[in-house]
Amino acid sequence: MAKIIDGKVVSQFVKDGVKKEVEALREKGVSVGLAVIIVGDDPASRTYVNNKKKACEAVGIISEEYALPEQTTMEELLSLIDRLNHKKSINGILCQLPLPKHLDEKLVIENIAPEKDVDAFHAINTGHIMIGDYSFLPCTPAGIMEMLKYYDIETCGKNAVVIGRSNIVGKPMAMLLLQKDATVTVCHSKTANLKEITERADILVAAVGKEKFVTADMVKEGAVVIDVGMNRNSEGKLCGDVDFSQVEKKASYITPVPGGVGPMTIATLMKNTLTAAKQQNAKRIF
Ligand code: NAP
Repeated sequence: MAKIIDGKVVSQFVKDGVKKEVEALREKGVSVGLAVIIVGDDPASRTYVNNKKKACEAVGIISEEYALPEQTTMEELLSLIDRLNHKKSINGILCQLPLPKHLDEKLVIENIAPEKDVDAFHAINTGHIMIGDYSFLPCTPAGIMEMLKYYDIETCGKNAVVIGRSNIVGKPMAMLLLQKDATVTVCHSKTANLKEITERADILVAAVGKEKFVTADMVKEGAVVIDVGMNRNSEGKLCGDVDFSQVEKKASYITPVPGGVGPMTIATLMKNTLTAAKQQNAKRIF
């Protein structure tokens, strides 16, 4: 039976560290601020934004919410981002995705100052990740690496398989595993013979967005299984991409949903905002 990787415990560990550093900065006269932009009234986005605000409060980061109506124009959104880029008390800017269809997400991301891009979605930050020289890492993959480290899970020389190639999860996940010396395979919807690939994985990361996509027959005995998926089942309950009750019998470690990767994403956001504040105030701190 697999050992559960408890995202609540690891995220608390990360947040405790952030809180201490935020307090130390405050004693030096430096406050840490995060601007959270939400456009429209998508209920899932609202929940994510509320959770991020709560986490800020818990670690002493000042959060400012900018809730814009659904019909906000690109010009209005970019003008807000420009204002926040120049606002001294704001160290990190997060624009909750997805945006309403008429808004260009790529352009929004490109307009956030890279040094305040605490989601690490800007092409400059993505480029830094490629060359292994970065300030921020995308919150979900970085949170997963933190969990592996906390549980002393070896990545060096392991076969890691990532299912999913999105810019925010799959691709950066593969890059971080590669940087930690895993041999990485990235799978996607056009991958042939997926099962043959996944059953060789020592570390299997599922970031697909489909309930019970990863079944026990796809998993190697003793594999570490990381479930990034956040789906709703037919009863409206939150569930991941992995058939948890069957796969946990075969894996050595497994993340549950909820309580696995999700809390780590928010904890990493707090860490990134702290990093941004330290960099922007480097002259005042040292
Ligand atoms: P996405 O952009 O929709 O990407 C999904 C990926 O899955 C794509 O690369 C797609 O391949 C691949 N895929 C779809 N069907 C497949 C199949 N039959 N076989 C193999 N690969 C297949 O999603 P995302 O943003 O990466 O998110 C993935 C999941 O993670 C979602 O459930 C999301 O809600 C969740 N998520 C959770 C957190 C968290 O904090 N826990 C954070 C972010 C996302 P193609 O590229 O070929 O289409």
